[in-house]
Amino acid sequence: MADCVFCKIVAGQIPSTRVFEDEHTLAFLDIGHVNPGHVLVAVKQHAENLFALQDAQAEAIARASARIARAIRAAFRPAGLSVYQANGQAAGQTVMHYHVHLVPRHEADGMELVWPVKNPPREKLAEYAEKIKAQLT
Ligand code: AMP
Ligand code: ZN
Repeated sequence: MADCVFCKIVAGQIPSTRVFEDEHTLAFLDIGHVNPGHVLVAVKQHAENLFALQDAQAEAIARASARIARAIRAAFRPAGLSVYQANGQAAGQTVMHYHVHLVPRHEADGMELVWPVKNPPREKLAEYAEKIKAQLT
């Protein structure tokens, strides 16, 4: 896509610090870099978000993410690793080209995600599950 920064990275039109690529994915260091070794795993062919992914892309992203996560763990020995992926502005997505963050984590590293837990009754959970199941294609 013409004005997409990650499409430009894939095309080599703007610089990136690459760590991995295969047919469907390109992984490079996040320029914002929350912790050393923070990687973005992006699809090569433009897809805006999770909803737009083809199965082959989804499979390749999952495989590449697991493989790169192991390399990050071996290279940086973090205490943990967060996988973060946002779809849509409301979810915090800022670059509208599908990507997964792999963020090495350390105790008290300042990265926070607040979960406003509601603990609904089990009947509500069953109702939500039915709604989703009815839409599965
Ligand atoms: P998100 O908010 O999940 O859409 O994440 C977008 C990420 O892309 C941010 O963490 C940015 O730091 C990162 N980013 C934006 N432009 C570049 C770039 N040119 N090279 C590497 N990372 C980038
Ligand atoms: Zn793009």
